[in-house]
Amino acid sequence: MIPAPVEPFAAVDVIVAKRDHGELSDAQIDWVIDAYTRGAVADEQMASLAMAVLLNGMSSRETSRWTAAMIASGERMDFSALSRPTADKHSTGGVGDKITLPLAPLVAACGVAVPQLSGRGLGHTGGTLDKLESIPGWRASLSNAEMLAILEEVGAVVCAAGEHLAPADRKLYSLRDVTGTVESIPLIASSIMSKKIAEGTGALVLDVKVGSGAFMKDIDRADELARTMVALGEDAGVRTVAILSSMDTPLGLTAGNALEVAESVDVLAGGGPRDVVELTLVLAREMLAAAGVDNVDPADRLADGSAMDAWRRMIRAQGGDPDAALPVARESHSVAAPSTGVLSRLDALGVGIAAWRLGAGRARKEDPVSAGAGVVMHAKPGDTVRAGDPLMTLHADSADRFPGALEALAGAVSVDPAPGAGPPRAVGSAHPRTPLVLARIAG
Ligand code: URA
Repeated sequence: MIPAPVEPFAAVDVIVAKRDHGELSDAQIDWVIDAYTRGAVADEQMASLAMAVLLNGMSSRETSRWTAAMIASGERMDFSALSRPTADKHSTGGVGDKITLPLAPLVAACGVAVPQLSGRGLGHTGGTLDKLESIPGWRASLSNAEMLAILEEVGAVVCAAGEHLAPADRKLYSLRDVTGTVESIPLIASSIMSKKIAEGTGALVLDVKVGSGAFMKDIDRADELARTMVALGEDAGVRTVAILSSMDTPLGLTAGNALEVAESVDVLAGGGPRDVVELTLVLAREMLAAAGVDNVDPADRLADGSAMDAWRRMIRAQGGDPDAALPVARESHSVAAPSTGVLSRLDALGVGIAAWRLGAGRARKEDPVSAGAGVVMHAKPGDTVRAGDPLMTLHADSADRFPGALEALAGAVSVDPAPGAGPPRAVGSAHPRTPLVLARIAG
């Protein structure tokens, strides 16, 4: 029998050090992450340490070392052999956030490769893989060799992160999810950045969402998270920029998997809602600049159809049929505007929960999602609406989903009687609006 390794630390000492506001040494951090990944630190010990970190924080040195230890728990991909530079985007998640879908092929069409390892949705924000999986035939799992070949040939790949990428984070994130320890800035930043740095991108643009439908409800915490992640990326040699963008109302006019694919295709065809186009172009310009490409305007690539060509090649390369009809939910239900006036609020969280309850999202990791379910919005804040006109259409595979969705939407809509009566004004309306992009943070 192989003897168990002699452990250099006791988990309880590391927990007590952090509980008592101490700083963990590099050696303690390296050990606790490695030992937790191989099962020598128990879940209850790691949960206790995560709670101590949530309550007492970590210094920037500790956060940086924690991130490095999580990267070292698995493989680090390397795309330096590609013939073009690489850039990726990460969004902290929002309602109707389908931006990756038009963005990845657009940036590829501009000459920068996009290696995006993505996730499935949990809770009220949708996952990019769930959206793409509504395209008949499309598959999320690729080998590293397939990923590299698609990146070289097409320039963009969106696929599931393999189990060898930051396995420490995979284990720790599931634990945090059930122990009330998700909302710690050092833990969120190290979780996101360990995966993005291990993914091997040369440049990274972070879209940190702020507002009712986002993880970060207030701008000060979003700013702190963004700065922490930018510093981690730059320390690891990844050119990193963050923008803070508003998530008080959903992005675009759809929330739900196939509905969002259709809207993304509209954007690639030169149409689509203004806010989705605007954010896609802002992020594309940031990605190109971070990758050192400054001789092409992504708006031209959207207009001349080359982004759409890249999308079609990207979908085909992963087995999907870009011309196939998208799934449609069996049942629909119209929601009318409650009164006449200016729609002053269409709350992102309410719409996100409604889409989730309609079947577009999952409550547990293993739950299936409905491809056709979700919410189509017919107006955005700032638009004038008339009592009784359709404000939203709900889509679900069975009508018994509608009452729960309607309950989530009950407090989500406000209509001001007098035009111009008050903020917020969102993109996509004919009225003045608050900006979609709230701040930019560079290293
Ligand atoms: N997303 C992640 O990947 N990790 C977190 O901790 C929070 C959001």
